[in-house]
Amino acid sequence: MKSNPNPAAEPASAAPAVAPMRLSGLEAVTIGADSLFVNIGERTNVTGSRAFARMILEGRFEDALSVARQQVDNGAQIIDVNMDEAMLDSKAAMVRFLHLIGSEPEIARVPIMIDSSKWEVIEAGLQCLQGKGIVNSLSMKEGEAEFRRQATRVRRYGAAAVVMAFDEQGQADTFERKTAICARAYRILVEEVGFPAEDIVFDPNVFAIATGIEEHANYAVDFIEATRWIKRHLPGAKVSGGISNVSFSFRGNDPVREAIHTVFLYHAIQAGMDMGIVNAGQLAIYEDIPAELREAVEDVILNRRADATERLLDMAGRYRDGDAGRAAATDNAWREWPVAKRLSHALVKGIDEFILADTEEARLQAAKPLDVIEGPLMDGMNIVGDLFGAGKMFLPQVVKSARVMKRAVAHLVPFIEQEQSGEVRKLGRIVMATVKGDVHDIGKNIVGVVLQCNNFEVIDLGVMVPGEKILQVAREQQADIIGLSGLITPSLDEMVQVAREMKRQKFATPLLIGGATTSPAHTSVKIDPEYDGAVVYVKDASRAVGVAQKLITPGERERYTAESKDDCRQRRQRHAHKDRQAPQVGLADARRNKARVDFGTPPVPARLGVQLLDLDLQALVRYIDWMPFFNAWEFHGKFPQILTDPVVGEAASGLWRDVQEMLERVLAERWLTSKAVIGLFPANASGDDDIAVYADESREQPLAVLHQLRQQRAKPDGQPHLCLADYVAPRETGIRDYVGAFAVTAGLGAERRVAAFQRANDDYSAILLKALADRFAEAGAEYLHEQVRRQHWGYAPAEALDCAALIAESYRGIRPAPGYPACPDHTEKATLWRLLDAERNAGIVLTEGYAMMPPASVSGWYLAHPEAKYFAVGRIGRDQAVDYARRKGTSLATVERWLAAALGYDAEAA
Ligand code: SAH
Repeated sequence: MKSNPNPAAEPASAAPAVAPMRLSGLEAVTIGADSLFVNIGERTNVTGSRAFARMILEGRFEDALSVARQQVDNGAQIIDVNMDEAMLDSKAAMVRFLHLIGSEPEIARVPIMIDSSKWEVIEAGLQCLQGKGIVNSLSMKEGEAEFRRQATRVRRYGAAAVVMAFDEQGQADTFERKTAICARAYRILVEEVGFPAEDIVFDPNVFAIATGIEEHANYAVDFIEATRWIKRHLPGAKVSGGISNVSFSFRGNDPVREAIHTVFLYHAIQAGMDMGIVNAGQLAIYEDIPAELREAVEDVILNRRADATERLLDMAGRYRDGDAGRAAATDNAWREWPVAKRLSHALVKGIDEFILADTEEARLQAAKPLDVIEGPLMDGMNIVGDLFGAGKMFLPQVVKSARVMKRAVAHLVPFIEQEQSGEVRKLGRIVMATVKGDVHDIGKNIVGVVLQCNNFEVIDLGVMVPGEKILQVAREQQADIIGLSGLITPSLDEMVQVAREMKRQKFATPLLIGGATTSPAHTSVKIDPEYDGAVVYVKDASRAVGVAQKLITPGERERYTAESKDDCRQRRQRHAHKDRQAPQVGLADARRNKARVDFGTPPVPARLGVQLLDLDLQALVRYIDWMPFFNAWEFHGKFPQILTDPVVGEAASGLWRDVQEMLERVLAERWLTSKAVIGLFPANASGDDDIAVYADESREQPLAVLHQLRQQRAKPDGQPHLCLADYVAPRETGIRDYVGAFAVTAGLGAERRVAAFQRANDDYSAILLKALADRFAEAGAEYLHEQVRRQHWGYAPAEALDCAALIAESYRGIRPAPGYPACPDHTEKATLWRLLDAERNAGIVLTEGYAMMPPASVSGWYLAHPEAKYFAVGRIGRDQAVDYARRKGTSLATVERWLAAALGYDAEAA
């Protein structure tokens, strides 16, 4: 079967005649200027087909082989083989599968496309081919030198190559970037490497369209135009692409996906596209697509009208067929309801498929557009609020409802402005910000969305916001409430400063405090005394609404303010009392009682110094600890049990499905880039509590000194006063010991996507992506640590722990993070950054508060001693603060500022 959707169209070819591309399996295939479109079978790809992935994972290679056979029977003229699955030994699977294919003449007659993001897998595959295949893919992702090297190798194996439009900056998404990268790659290949032009296949990146994000609207046009340009300007080069990506946002609706693939190919082939990775079974014939659908699809693909996506979405439901269609029909019974009821149903269920059409219908029926908001939409949101309050709805569902609401309101606002029919009435206005020096805002964003759902107006100033700015906006906007958020300990002190400034400026606005390091203790002991207005610690998003409602209701407000002031006072008293009871020992005594460990002969790292490591997000997936992801959405319990929990199971599963879908897109469309740097150095403990790091084994001049703190709370006999320096052999012993450092981010590229989601009124996806990026960063840290233990330091070469064991940290060695309890001084990150040049090497910048940007970043030290463990330094004494300032060569005031939490009060005692 030739499934060229447009047999009539002639491929455009203005290029001068060059040799055709010749490939072969057992039979030869020639692809020249007058060839028809070449179908590349996509089903033998573990990343594209779950069914195929399962077969390979379960070792059912015979079944997998029949998939390949089916592809060829269905008209695939080349088959794409991809084994990039985290749980697989991809190289072994590739070799085994290619060998099996080699002995099946019906399959082996077609050329093979070896598809992997790992060079070693590609090379192993090349060694198995009996004809001339295609490598998928090369790119300039790692720079020109690596590109040249790989291209030269491919040449030596005699294969053709797909070259992705990808460079050091990432994947090309615009016409300009696509063509510039392809032109540069072409020049290098043809002029420098001597690669035959006819064996170059450019893949200018097919991205999903109709996503609701404005930046994506022109993706298909950019691809088609880049194709036309390449065929005209880069003689001999071919163009290919993975087609199913383009219709990604219509997953689950095969008829619409087919129509999109077909129309897309119709135009791309006219522009000169030579081949494509397709599911031959998922193509229709251009002329057979119903005219109405075809036109709507064409509007989207060619980006012909601003409302193209909405129109196609509205139509899409009608083209669902088969079983899916019938299920949808029963599920869609609510579509027959009156419009007001439909709106509230859509809000409660978080369905945004029909919201624009329904909102428009309601607007036409209403006396004025504002009535739609204050009537059916508010009614719906009130139900959401009630269900949430009653514990029958959960955060991710609420945030999805908010997305529906926002989109409906966005549709109505222009009409309201046009008629000047008044403003949407809000309960109250809240100005929120993550304080200066801090960059974390997932929790704050969730709180903001939930407050909006409850009819508060939220002015979110973002992250790293100076106190003056917060107060200025609060004054100008006459905020009813101010909310401060922070994740790292220095933010605590910043909040105290803001409270103090509020008092000085005679504010009376209630102050809400939230975020990971904040606590009732800190709020009562440190912030509340600085300000005369209400200071309320808000534990989580579910509490925020109740607190905010009390604080804006006349009468209630005064009562609640008095009550919370009183609460804080009582807590302060209890705290002072406990504090007196919590005795401390002097620094000298604590030092005498240090942890005494046996150093033996510490393992010598296989490679000393700083190295950049390459992280592949796909390979990190299996290292992800999912529970913190659910925690961010205020689900508690265990993963995966939480998915089947009788109470929260349904909501948790919905969230799980959504994040898995996003995960696929993050990987397929390379939304995030990860970078990592590690360093391993000779080191010895020096003085009592410091670790000297040396450039080399001469151990003469320290490169850096890592200043550590020691516990000072009174302890029962036999329990040492811990300090991280105790786990590194002291210089006097003459023992050669070592420490390491690492910094890893997975957040490069996240900001742009997040901003695009926000512009599309999609906070839900924005928050999902941030939380997912955090997970990748932590997974990256876990993976790096494993590599360090097994290879780079190499003290546990045979370690083989599964994911659960890794999460449980059942391995030798720790990676304490500056700012965390065993080393609570965030400013030590400056040393870490200097040792690793982490800004240049990993692209992570430290803020003035020593938070890491992008936020999805992790850093820390490596200690390898078997007894090294995490602990909390806890409260330290003045004597230690003075000594620490001296060792660091800084002032006591500076130490007091950065270690305010450790000096001022004991969080554990509180
Ligand atoms: N699986 C978790 C891991 C992160 S939390 C996740 O994916 O989120 C564990 C990390 O926090 C440790 O690896 C360490 O870097 C840091 N950490 C935890 N407790 C610490 C302590 N007491 N002192 C210093 N760092 C600590």
